[in-house]
Amino acid sequence: MLSEFSLIDRFFARRATAPSPRHDDEAARPLGIGDDCALIAPPIGHQLAISTDMLVEGRHFFPDVDPYALGHKALAVNLSDIAAMGAAPHAFTLALALPRADEAWLQAFSDGLFALAERHDCALIGGDTTSGPLNICITVFGDVPQGAALRRDAARPGDDIWVSGTLGDARAGLGAIRGEWRAPEGCDWRRALERPEPRVALGIALRGVAHAALDISDGLAGDLMHILKRSGVRAAVDADAVPCSDAVRALPEAARRQCTLAGGDDYELCFTAPVEARAALATIATNVKVPLTRIGTIEPSGAPGIAWRDASGAPLSLTLQGFDHFHAD
Ligand code: ADP
Ligand code: MG
Repeated sequence: MLSEFSLIDRFFARRATAPSPRHDDEAARPLGIGDDCALIAPPIGHQLAISTDMLVEGRHFFPDVDPYALGHKALAVNLSDIAAMGAAPHAFTLALALPRADEAWLQAFSDGLFALAERHDCALIGGDTTSGPLNICITVFGDVPQGAALRRDAARPGDDIWVSGTLGDARAGLGAIRGEWRAPEGCDWRRALERPEPRVALGIALRGVAHAALDISDGLAGDLMHILKRSGVRAAVDADAVPCSDAVRALPEAARRQCTLAGGDDYELCFTAPVEARAALATIATNVKVPLTRIGTIEPSGAPGIAWRDASGAPLSLTLQGFDHFHAD
């Protein structure tokens, strides 16, 4: 049986790269795993961007989930928050409660975790390990030039509203698992659900171009409302312009709208930008290889809320609920 410290060493500490220095100051040298605290500092002229996300068995993932995918997703959802602020990820901590020290499980989990961490040059700098019901909590640290973060309160009247990638595949898969509809054909929903790709390069490219931004984790309708409330503005959104895969498009209309507008687990970015930024955004989409779709506008006036329209511009009355842990069915 593995001890706590041999487990940490073998699956996490030994595989962790040291955090890279952020500036030349010797005294500010970063420190990773092995002491009571890690030490990090952002580059001069930058702010630290910090986010925590917890994944709980039975709530965020099924007990039989592939541990490699779980390692990926636990970090991906955190990197997605860093991306939404326009920050560059740098380091993370990992707090882990494990029911048992299953070596094969830990190997696959740490493989999935480190594969994504290495792609984003994000160093594991510490954590905590305990026995208990499976629970994974990651805190990620990123850098963003002072004042350049993409915040939720920065949408302005007249802005276009954009989303990256496609929405709804993960929710379509969940609905198929739950028997709400037949699995959409040709849809790699398991990949969407288990292996979301955080839009880090896009978030960085949107600095100085986008006004407000967030990542869509609980469904477009609910998440866009966070921007609208924080910015004190109203939106008009074309529900049929919201981008989705061909497989989701082929679902019955009500199911399609549920998936694309209120699905959740999308981890795409939703952002607002002035009309003059359209050409720059076309270039950014090409450079970062992520499609960007304009879905609506921020209205000149009105209380925070979303006026939904269909492709012909006719008003739609939709009652959509984003995901809420304390009001879930
Ligand atoms: P302390 O008792 O001082 O909180 P621990 O004994 O829990 O420290 O951990 C020893 C070292 O191992 C610390 O540097 C801690 O950050 C690191 N650590 C513990 N668990 C993990 C983990 N799951 N991943 C990465 N580092 C970890
Ligand atoms: Mg200590």
